[in-house]
Amino acid sequence: MAEFIALIPAAGSGSRMGEDIPKQYRSLASKPMIYHALRTLCSAERIGMVCVVLAPDDTEWARHDWSEFAGKIQVFGCGGATRAESVTNGLKALRAENHVQDQDWILVHDAARPGLSLALVERLLDQLAQDEIGGLLAVPLADTLKRADDTGRVMCTEPRERLWQAQTPQMFRTKLLLEALEKAPAGITDDASAVEALGFSPKLVTGDAYNFKVTYPQDLKLAELILQERTATQN
Ligand code: C5P
Repeated sequence: MAEFIALIPAAGSGSRMGEDIPKQYRSLASKPMIYHALRTLCSAERIGMVCVVLAPDDTEWARHDWSEFAGKIQVFGCGGATRAESVTNGLKALRAENHVQDQDWILVHDAARPGLSLALVERLLDQLAQDEIGGLLAVPLADTLKRADDTGRVMCTEPRERLWQAQTPQMFRTKLLLEALEKAPAGITDDASAVEALGFSPKLVTGDAYNFKVTYPQDLKLAELILQERTATQN
């Protein structure tokens, strides 16, 4: 039986947040941001292991207490210059230590999506475990899309029919994902586009707005509210 393993690339610098501390460690609901996604993924019973890929020069991880996840997480300091490189290096490290087989499922999740709920993880597993290719959480686009010209004026309005915003986790089998990332064109920003470049069509599984990526400073407040509300309803 194929196993499910989560992989969190957490080697980014988060430069758009405008802070010295990498985004994944910014304090959110009294914890480093990455804690929230880790907690959700570790609480999924079907996920056997959660692998965290840190930058080789990371100095923050060791400052925090992760003991509540002991036995379920594996930490590797092999992050690369891009997200794709960090995921690739993490997969290779997992394989080198015999933690994954070719047909095992990998759920790649951004450290900067703290609003992931257990219900979404379960939905992704339910809908993809028997799939030929794999897929990703995503939400249909709600806003009207404008393409800008060089002067910041509208060049045209893009039709939004059938457009989805990609989220994570993105879930593919180890062998396919590694091959896809190794052959991926430069500049890809998610795992699914690497798989698409091989000619496959990943399945879209409906996510939700809470699972947004914290990118700009104002996103922190929104994430904080979501996490507070979730904690309140859990108690
Ligand atoms: O910067 P962005 O928000 O797109 O990063 C998405 C995810 O990829 C984050 O979890 C970030 O830490 C990770 N990443 C990485 N290695 C890089 C760049 C980003 O692991 N070189």
